[in-house]
Amino acid sequence: MLQVSLLASLIDLAIVVAFAVIAIEARAIDRRGFLASIAVGYPILLGGGWTWFVIVATFFVLGVAFTWYRYEYKKSLGSAQEKGGTRNWPNILANGGVASLLGLGELLGGGLLFAVLYVGAVSAAASDTVATELGLLNRSPPRLITNLMRVVSPGTSGGVSPMGFAGTFLASALIGAVAAMLGVASGLQPAYVVAVSVAGGLIGSIADSVAGATFQRKSFCVVCGKPSENLDHCGEPTRFSSGLKFVDNHVVNVIATVFGALGSAGLYLLLR
Ligand SMILES: [Zn+2]
Repeated sequence: MLQVSLLASLIDLAIVVAFAVIAIEARAIDRRGFLASIAVGYPILLGGGWTWFVIVATFFVLGVAFTWYRYEYKKSLGSAQEKGGTRNWPNILANGGVASLLGLGELLGGGLLFAVLYVGAVSAAASDTVATELGLLNRSPPRLITNLMRVVSPGTSGGVSPMGFAGTFLASALIGAVAAMLGVASGLQPAYVVAVSVAGGLIGSIADSVAGATFQRKSFCVVCGKPSENLDHCGEPTRFSSGLKFVDNHVVNVIATVFGALGSAGLYLLLR
């Protein structure tokens, strides 16, 4: 039922804006990212309440922490996030859009399945972000998920590594643990909530890597020759090499969160 008092909805908006102000002050997001994070966060808090909001905030803090972790080293690889790791609006919408729509769904009725889908979507976003950042720290170069015999250079879309896998597991288990502690998806045993979250994180990360290895747009840097997901590298526009031109990293992130949500829902329906 849609039953939200004006005062409560204004307080919710103030809380989301306050978080966005902290994030922009910490240079975790840029100016348009500020608006995007309010657009993403508000439906989540309004629909799912503070427990849902804590889950997405956990993802955000986790992403920022792992992006900053050994940033200079990752920069020396040529694979660090651009601009000191400050996230822009497409990144925020790509990682949080599906979760935000599920927040709207919860506002309009929702229920346990929506909570499970939500945990899966956030878990996939967190897993993918942490796997990308930790994967860059793997001692040996990654291998292509569609052909594990093939070694690729760090930062290549579709590349997987033991450290990346550890990141997926760590992030999805943590999101699941937070969800279980807060009683999101109440009615499910805490261990089930963690399992459902890990399923979403794993399936989302696999979908991300398979899309990255197959139809994601590939480009390389004309200056240093490294593969890059970005439109610019070393201050020059990157050159297109293969894949579907409109499928950039953001599109792949949306795909990953959809698969994460479905993966969690799938395990939930099996366990039920
Ligand atoms: Zn370059």
